Amino acid sequence: MSLEKSPISTDVNFEKEGKQFSYLRVPYSRNDSAWGGVFVPVVVVKNGKGPTVLFVGGNHGGEYEGSVTLLKLSRTLEADQIQGRVILLPALNLPAVQAGERVSPIDGRDMNRTFPGKHNGTISQIIAHYVHEAILPLCDAVIDLHSGGYSLDLMPYNSMHYLPDEELRKRTMAALKAFDAPVSLVMREFTGEGLLDYAVEGMGKIFLCAEIGGRGVLSPSKLKIAERGVQNMLKHFNLIKGDLAKPTTRLMEVPETGNYAYAQSNGIYEAFFEIGEEVPAGQPVGQVHYPESPEREPEVLTIGRGGVLVGTRGPGFVERGDCVAVTAQDLE
Ligand SMILES: [Zn+2]
Repeated sequence: MSLEKSPISTDVNFEKEGKQFSYLRVPYSRNDSAWGGVFVPVVVVKNGKGPTVLFVGGNHGGEYEGSVTLLKLSRTLEADQIQGRVILLPALNLPAVQAGERVSPIDGRDMNRTFPGKHNGTISQIIAHYVHEAILPLCDAVIDLHSGGYSLDLMPYNSMHYLPDEELRKRTMAALKAFDAPVSLVMREFTGEGLLDYAVEGMGKIFLCAEIGGRGVLSPSKLKIAERGVQNMLKHFNLIKGDLAKPTTRLMEVPETGNYAYAQSNGIYEAFFEIGEEVPAGQPVGQVHYPESPEREPEVLTIGRGGVLVGTRGPGFVERGDCVAVTAQDLE
């Protein structure tokens, strides 16, 4: 999987001093544009020697706080303000971002299930391959800014995985605390292969996945959390000068499948708890109603592990298999 085989062309020079607004041009031949392409924006701000941190927004479309934070930072961050290199990808899956949808409308792929990508694959795979081969090797840390999108509402949190390597775990935990989201989670995921997370962790680098909001809206208060967290990252990695406030984040964990609840049937989901409320162990988290059958009792859903509700279903209607609730417990 060499970079030379990538069909992406770009004039970005990651070694050049100063600030560059550039694009990764991905060929996209179609009926209305035979020699057309998609231009994925990339911003590089570099000043001398120092760490390299990559900030990613728009890994999924419909997740707005991250993209807007990075679009603002693109225009305000100048090379003489930093020591080192900041790379910004504010709309990694640009077709999905433009559509306001989680997956690409071109190939139907979820970018965050596509890594390490393929140079001769679909458009999402080609973008993932370029990032994997050309950008990740330059980085000391990657901060990936998500939200729950349309289908989930998530407590504003930043997260890391349970990492087997103790040294990487310590460095990642220090960054997680420094971001200082209202909640910091250590998570086990049950989402399958292809995450950007695993690609970065596999290179022995720091990776954080922030989930700031959801329901397909941009919240002013959650945007502030994302913006402050990104500034904290610039300070934590010594890219900009400035003291970090003592973190007030609540350290929690999501260790097992019992922390998740899924709809068992199709209908209207009634959540019993708001985000941030404590769900007592063994208590139902919600129930599914059947609008076509008033005589039918709603199906009550329970969750294996009680704790603080950090994720809930966005839209009212659910289908069997949809995630409707996620809980977290304080990390000892
Ligand atoms: Zn996402």
